Amino acid sequence: MLEAQRAVQSVNLYDQFGRHINYLRISLTDHCNLRCVYCMPTQDLAFLPNQDLLTADEIEVVARAAVKVGFRKFRLTGGEPTLRRDVVDIVHRIASIPGVADLSMTTNGIRLTDLAADLKAAGLRRVNVHIDSLNGERLPQLMRWGRLEKLWAGLEAAASAGLTPIKINCVVTKGYNDEDVVDMARLTLAHPWGVRFIELMPLGSGAEAQVAVDHFVPSRDTQARIEAALGELMPIPNRDPSDESRNYRLAGAPGTIGFISPVSAPYCDTCNRMRLTADGKFHLCLLHDDELDVKAALRSGGGQTAVEAILARAVALKPTGHALRRGIHTEDRRMYQIGG
Ligand code: SAM
Ligand code: SF4
Repeated sequence: MLEAQRAVQSVNLYDQFGRHINYLRISLTDHCNLRCVYCMPTQDLAFLPNQDLLTADEIEVVARAAVKVGFRKFRLTGGEPTLRRDVVDIVHRIASIPGVADLSMTTNGIRLTDLAADLKAAGLRRVNVHIDSLNGERLPQLMRWGRLEKLWAGLEAAASAGLTPIKINCVVTKGYNDEDVVDMARLTLAHPWGVRFIELMPLGSGAEAQVAVDHFVPSRDTQARIEAALGELMPIPNRDPSDESRNYRLAGAPGTIGFISPVSAPYCDTCNRMRLTADGKFHLCLLHDDELDVKAALRSGGGQTAVEAILARAVALKPTGHALRRGIHTEDRRMYQIGG
């Protein structure tokens, strides 16, 4: 086993721009139990039928292929990944593959009160929990069906289960939660959590993309607001060049504060990731529409070797750069349909 592990670890995959690609985000579903205003509409939603979602078996084949060609980090996302009935099984399957160095999940946390311990036992390492505000009245205006007490209970369940280090995703949205960033940042004075403030990205051609443009707040404004209230943020040297977050600490804080700024400070040069959509497409970049179909290959009898070839091609074709600052965004898919 050790020899096999060593052989697995020696593979490195580079794209045409010399970027080392080793991180696969797997979307388990496009369904969600929330309707955040910048992500999902409340009407005219057409979710994928179950038969179009990759099965646990198919996801495992893709994950094995990914490890074989050089991927080491995996994140489960969606839609809301905890809505998959077989989510614990999927975690177990991926965590058991030799060569998987990290397995995490991005979730709105609501189902973690039921699932956190089982996910941990199955091999999930850590979670990013999405909470946009600690204000119980304002939060539902932005995360619509979200209720603070439920999200908070999920966060606590994750901490108790040891799904750590915990990160919190906060999408800063002008007029909804931009005032609340100070309270969010204050959490890091009491908890060893990473609170990350994310700039809105316009994705897809629906109304949510316009919300993202109209309610955009640059990270520098969020940072200035936090520093005015809580004092200077001290930069933390970046040990991982592919970490898209610029990280800081308040004096004496056990937790960290991060800024993810895809619009005002794009990080394409150090991007190390590829995405697998819930309906089985390799989505080459969050901010481009290019995709390669892996489900068709799987369902027409192609096995792991076929997937390896498609994945290697996907990496070779991965684009760089985007035009968000000029207001140009993707057309085909919204965030929940790609996997954030
Ligand atoms: N449902 C889970 C959740 O909300 O965390 C996982 C999927 S969601 C698409 C993944 C992350 O994308 C969220 O945590 C949120 O921070 C981020 N997100 C969603 N829409 C966004 C947008 N338009 N711009 C920037 N970030 C967005
Ligand atoms: Fe659901 Fe996550 Fe999108 Fe909010 S951001 S609607 S929780 S998929």
